[in-house]
Amino acid sequence: MRLRNKPWAEEMITNHPEVIIPNPEDFKGNWQAVFGNDHPLHIEVGTGKGQFVTGMALQNPDINYIGIELYDSVIVCALENILEAKSPANLRLLKVNGADLNKFFEKNDVDRVYLNFSDPWPKLRHAKRRLTHEGFLKLYESILVDNGEIHFKTDNRGLFEYSLVSMSEYGMLLKYVSLDLHANMPEDNIMTEYEQKFSAKGQPIYRLESQFIT
Ligand code: SAM
Repeated sequence: MRLRNKPWAEEMITNHPEVIIPNPEDFKGNWQAVFGNDHPLHIEVGTGKGQFVTGMALQNPDINYIGIELYDSVIVCALENILEAKSPANLRLLKVNGADLNKFFEKNDVDRVYLNFSDPWPKLRHAKRRLTHEGFLKLYESILVDNGEIHFKTDNRGLFEYSLVSMSEYGMLLKYVSLDLHANMPEDNIMTEYEQKFSAKGQPIYRLESQFIT
C-alpha cells in the first residue's frame, strides 16, 4: 500500500514518540520497559492503516501489540487511528522494515506474529520478499517464544497456497486453515482495511494459524 506523499507525515511521526517508538533497538530484549508490564507481545508485520492492531489492542487489554509498517505515508494513518482511539496503553507502532525484525527483538520477545493481506509479490523472482518466505519464517522463529504462532489472513489464493507449502516445508504445524473465513466468522474477528474491502466485493478471505515446533 503506497499512499501519495505526505510532506507533513515525518513531522507528525516525530511528534508522537509515545506511539511510534523512535529508538526501537534500545528495547531489544526489554519490551516490558515500554509497556510497564510483562504481558504477552503480539506483533503485526505490514500493519497498514492500523485498523486491525488498534481493534485487537482495544479488544484484548492484557496483550501488548506492536504494529510494524514501512512507509511514512501509511503509518501516519495508523497513528491518526490510534490517537482517535485515545492511544491504548497496550499499543505501539514501529516504522521499520519487517526484514529487520531481529534488530529490534530477540528470542522470546514475541508471542505471536500476525500477517494480514501481505503484499503477494506474484513474480517468482520476488518470492523472497513474500512475508511467508522461508527467510521470513526463520526470522520470526528467531524472535518468537518456543512454539510461537503465526496468524495469517489474505484474499490472495496464490499467496495463501504458497504460504501453506512454505510453512509446511519449514516443519511448522498448520493448526487451523479456512478457505472462507467469513462463512463462519468468529465472533472476535477484527477486520483489517483490506479484509473489509475484499469481503465487500464477495471475495473469500483465507486464514491460517501455524505454529513453530521445537
Ligand atoms: N495489513 C493491512 C490490511 O490488511 O489492511 C495492510 C495490507 S497492505 C496490502 C500491506 C502493508 O504491508 C503495506 O502497508 C506495506 O507498506 C506493508 N509492508 C509490506 N512489506 C513490509 C515490510 N517488509 N515491512 C513492513 N511493512 C511492510
